[in-house]
Amino acid sequence: MTEPADAALRRAIAPVICYPNETLPVPDLALYRAARATAVKTGEFVAPPREACTFRVPAGQFFRISAPDGPQVGDLNLWNANDLSERFYSGKTRALHGTHLTTGERMWSAFPYLRPMATITEDTLAWYGIDQYGGSVHDVIGTRCDPYTGNLLSGSQYHHCCHSNLTRALADETGMTLAQAEPHVHDVLNVFMCTGFTRDTGQYFMKASPVRAGDHLEFFAEIDLLGALSACPGGDCSAEHSSDTSTCHPLLVEVFAPADGALAGWTPPPVNGYDRSHGR
Ligand SMILES: [Zn+2]
Repeated sequence: MTEPADAALRRAIAPVICYPNETLPVPDLALYRAARATAVKTGEFVAPPREACTFRVPAGQFFRISAPDGPQVGDLNLWNANDLSERFYSGKTRALHGTHLTTGERMWSAFPYLRPMATITEDTLAWYGIDQYGGSVHDVIGTRCDPYTGNLLSGSQYHHCCHSNLTRALADETGMTLAQAEPHVHDVLNVFMCTGFTRDTGQYFMKASPVRAGDHLEFFAEIDLLGALSACPGGDCSAEHSSDTSTCHPLLVEVFAPADGALAGWTPPPVNGYDRSHGR
């Protein structure tokens, strides 16, 4: 295939941002931080290596994810605790905020709700930025590791991918069967994972996570949340996932409740205002 005569001109067209986000509702981080300063810890949950845990966070409380024993990547699912049909929408979150999330950005829910479920209030890896390979931390580009892709590519039957870990954890939390729980599992926020796309071939890549003991990612729950967090079998994702060969560590989830009145004036965001008539 030969290039057209004006190929260089066509490639030289400057990009435009798909979703300029100047009109996105801005979280009141100062209010959240003031409330956080009054908060006390009310619970903690541990995702063991190659397993997932679930946790519940009422609207107006905070949750913190950390890797206290060593570098470890986590795959995070969020649902409205009162309605599992409202769940995290990785793709639209990516379109609104970019490929990787950090402080002040939000995890948005799926249609027809499309509202912030959680706001990132603290990210000790925010310093990482975008590295020389185009990699960054906490991505919304990488779906979740799963046994179907492994089977497709290598014929394997591996049961501790994040998809299966999340499925088992959700089933245990809700009393659903595995078959009932599995369709609720969705594309994740890859907590602490360092990823990007290669510039030459556009392929999804991962590299060893920069997370260390003492680092954490903290969120404000905008609505009542049910969360599930899988300690990825890839460990720090420096080499491979979807096997038991990588060194893995647990992940810790801690929940903090602000003092009464600390969020004066704040209310959970309403569901999206589109009237859903779809032109009829
Ligand atoms: Zn995984």
